[in-house]
Amino acid sequence: MSRLYDYKPYGDEPQKGGGSGMLLPVLLLVIVLLLALILYKVATRSPDETPATLRRTTTERTTAGDGTGADGSGGLTSGEPTTTEDPNRIEILDDEPEPTRLGEFLQRWPADPAIETLHDSRALIDSLAGRPDGSTSLQGVTVILDPGHGGIDGGTVYPSSPPHTHVEKDIVLDLARRTRAYLEARGAEVVMTRDSDEWFSIYHRAAQAGQLILDRTRAALAGTPKTTTWLDDMDRYMAHIRSLNQDRGGGAIIGGAGTQRQARELYDLQRQYPEVIFISLHINSYTDPAVGGLQVYYLTNETYFNYEAVTVGGPDPNMKPVYQNYDGDARYNLAMAVVNTLSIDVPETKTVGGPEPLINDRGFVVLKCMGLNTVLVEVGYMTNPDDRARLADPAYLDRLAAALGRSVYQYYCQ
Ligand SMILES: [Zn+2]
Repeated sequence: MSRLYDYKPYGDEPQKGGGSGMLLPVLLLVIVLLLALILYKVATRSPDETPATLRRTTTERTTAGDGTGADGSGGLTSGEPTTTEDPNRIEILDDEPEPTRLGEFLQRWPADPAIETLHDSRALIDSLAGRPDGSTSLQGVTVILDPGHGGIDGGTVYPSSPPHTHVEKDIVLDLARRTRAYLEARGAEVVMTRDSDEWFSIYHRAAQAGQLILDRTRAALAGTPKTTTWLDDMDRYMAHIRSLNQDRGGGAIIGGAGTQRQARELYDLQRQYPEVIFISLHINSYTDPAVGGLQVYYLTNETYFNYEAVTVGGPDPNMKPVYQNYDGDARYNLAMAVVNTLSIDVPETKTVGGPEPLINDRGFVVLKCMGLNTVLVEVGYMTNPDDRARLADPAYLDRLAAALGRSVYQYYCQ
């Protein structure tokens, strides 16, 4: 059973003031009172709580812990139920979390979508299958390339003490730019999470992928009667996450184990965009220099749940249910396409002394904090002398970039 939820606008419409001489003192008093209220709110908010302006009210729910204010959030949105039904609002179809074997310790969000269908790309996806390799083969596809690290964060480096001759952040940015050129030459749109020596947290990168889909949805709904209150909510949520992650701040999207309700809704919207994929590029390191080659990480529903389960030591009132609506098949296919094309086009990436190249057991943020199909690729080991020498060679990076680009073509078209 699905329940319908509605959103209530924040506060009231501004009052139209008259032109009396009392206006200025009254305005000043109001501003002082508002500031005092805001300061009180900030001072009494728990660290991982989303701002009260991001909270919602519901039409049906009255139990604690759901954002109605009964959980102590109180806040700028009152607990008054919304009584008017707007047929054009975006429907949120949240269900109650499903109990699991771990019971109160860890729950799952239902695998059903939390949000109505706002975007349908089935025709586009169908049209991609079988397209010949050429300048338009990836038209309609968007690839978000995520060169890891940047700025103050060099990633893995060699040698370990300066001056470093090999720096992960520089190599993966170079590789991403070459991959972009390959993909754009085949008609894909490419978005980079960074295109300079700039540091963004992993949560900031996930928020960029969230914002891209919110912007596309807003553009698609422009001129339709659909209300955009929910999108306004989500824009604020993304802005909040980006602002919390300007430095090495914490995990604002998930705020601990599990998935916040708003994040779940965002991921379910992203799930409606299979023509957008996210590829994170990194270089590995290990204590044993003999270990080398490719590692490709992906994440599916069951492995995400298991990953979170091992981190749960006992009851935690702040624990969120675990998101369970990733497209596991598509994520597997994307990861396999990367493994296949790289093993054929760049056989030097064959793993040496390490685990198999395809890995599905890590809860990396760029895998779990988005509903897009996403993969994290470690193209080699900085600690392995052969890998390191190859990764310093521009001709080798060109081959890697072409193979990564071809994996996208294989994923969509073959
Ligand atoms: Zn890295």
